[in-house]
Amino acid sequence: MDLKSGLPFWLIKNGLSKDYNTLDSDIETEVLIIGSGITGALVAHFLCEGGVNCVVVDRRMASTGSTTASTAQLQYEIDTFLFDLIEKVGEENAVKAYQKCLESIYTLEKIIKKLKIDGNFEWRSSLYLASDAKGFKDLEQEYETRKKFKLPVTLLNQKELKDKFNIDKKGALYNDCSAQIDTFKLCTELLNYHKKNSGLVVYSHTDVVKVENKKEHIIAITEKGYKITAKKIVAAPGFESESLLKEKVMQLNSTYVFVSKPLKEEDFWNEKCLIWETARPYIYVRTTKDNRIMVGGFDEDFQNPKKRDALMEQKNKAILKRFKKLFPDSKIEVDFYWCGTFGETKDGLPFIGEHKEHPNMYFALGYGGNGITFSVIAAEMIKDLYLGKPTDSDLFAFDR
Ligand SMILES: Cc1cc2nc3c(=O)[nH]c(=O)nc-3n(C[C@H](O)[C@H](O)[C@H](O)COP(=O)(O)OP(=O)(O)OC[C@H]3O[C@@H](n4cnc5c(N)ncnc54)[C@H](O)[C@@H]3O)c2cc1C
Repeated sequence: MDLKSGLPFWLIKNGLSKDYNTLDSDIETEVLIIGSGITGALVAHFLCEGGVNCVVVDRRMASTGSTTASTAQLQYEIDTFLFDLIEKVGEENAVKAYQKCLESIYTLEKIIKKLKIDGNFEWRSSLYLASDAKGFKDLEQEYETRKKFKLPVTLLNQKELKDKFNIDKKGALYNDCSAQIDTFKLCTELLNYHKKNSGLVVYSHTDVVKVENKKEHIIAITEKGYKITAKKIVAAPGFESESLLKEKVMQLNSTYVFVSKPLKEEDFWNEKCLIWETARPYIYVRTTKDNRIMVGGFDEDFQNPKKRDALMEQKNKAILKRFKKLFPDSKIEVDFYWCGTFGETKDGLPFIGEHKEHPNMYFALGYGGNGITFSVIAAEMIKDLYLGKPTDSDLFAFDR
């Protein structure tokens, strides 16, 4: 699948990671992880920390799937309002899912600090803007719901929003426990750390085309015909799950992003907070360490790469126009732009854990706008499943 086009900023900023070898013999390992994006890297991290022997394979150059295209905003609030999610999956599960997303941001910070690696992690506040009167009504209901379950949230009215952020909208939900990272850097550093310290082995350009289940083990067969024998396989293939999972569990969409030229400190809004909005299509906004503004959005509900790429210029203009409506005096100018595919599930939650038609496999499919927080949750949960510890895996089960 063609996951992205254009010039993803993180790849330009960091350059390609040191390449890994391509598999050229049969091997054995305890756990095979398919996919070296942020999900696979986090799964490898948790398993290595648990003393499990792992191999990671990727059909591309390591970590160059959706992870390089991400805007990498970390928010506990998912695309589905909590009050809507309660309708869909029940109160207990919906609240737990939100709480887990919140915890995952702290978990990620802890990992970075513990390993002393660099993922450009920065805590940020976040604004969820009401784009119109209906949006504000929804935000009021969402505020009451989140407050009831003690999730961190403040409701700003029009005046408070204008006074504090100089944004002229009906109101916004505000929280100060969001974050932003450079996912590609983090992913590369995680893999390198465990390669050096935990005996992790990573193979690039190694495509798994078939999986065979045996009584005591499972075998992955690569495009070149080599066999990887393992006790378990963790599938972390991002939005390319079709070759590993029989069931269709997501809708594939396209999204568009640009990053501005660097600006001066005084050219930014208060707190350089993350911003998104209730309008559909929406824009999502963050800043970078080198003082750029990154704006994405104007999603389309198709995946066709030709059709997706043909719209890039037009989408850029639309995103810029929407941004300038929020900040009419901004000196923003586009530097690089790209677009990417992303998947969405019906309830906005990921699929994590076992699937009855795929014995000896765990899936880590963190779909939606919060893919990275879901990756953290999936990685920790799969480690617990493998080590036989209790988990909340029912929350994200395929048959939920
Ligand atoms: C433009 C954009 C903006 C986004 N913004 C955000 C955001 O702000 N916050 C957020 O949390 N999330 C965001 N996301 C989503 C987030 O980036 C993804 O959820 C996350 O990067 C997925 O990581 P992954 O490791 O699961 O997938 P990937 O990074 O795609 O990694 C999967 C890897 O598996 C490999 N693979 C697949 N099948 C096979 C196979 N059979 N054999 C071998 N290798 C295989 C692929 O080559 C790939 O490298 C965004 C996504 C996009 C595209």
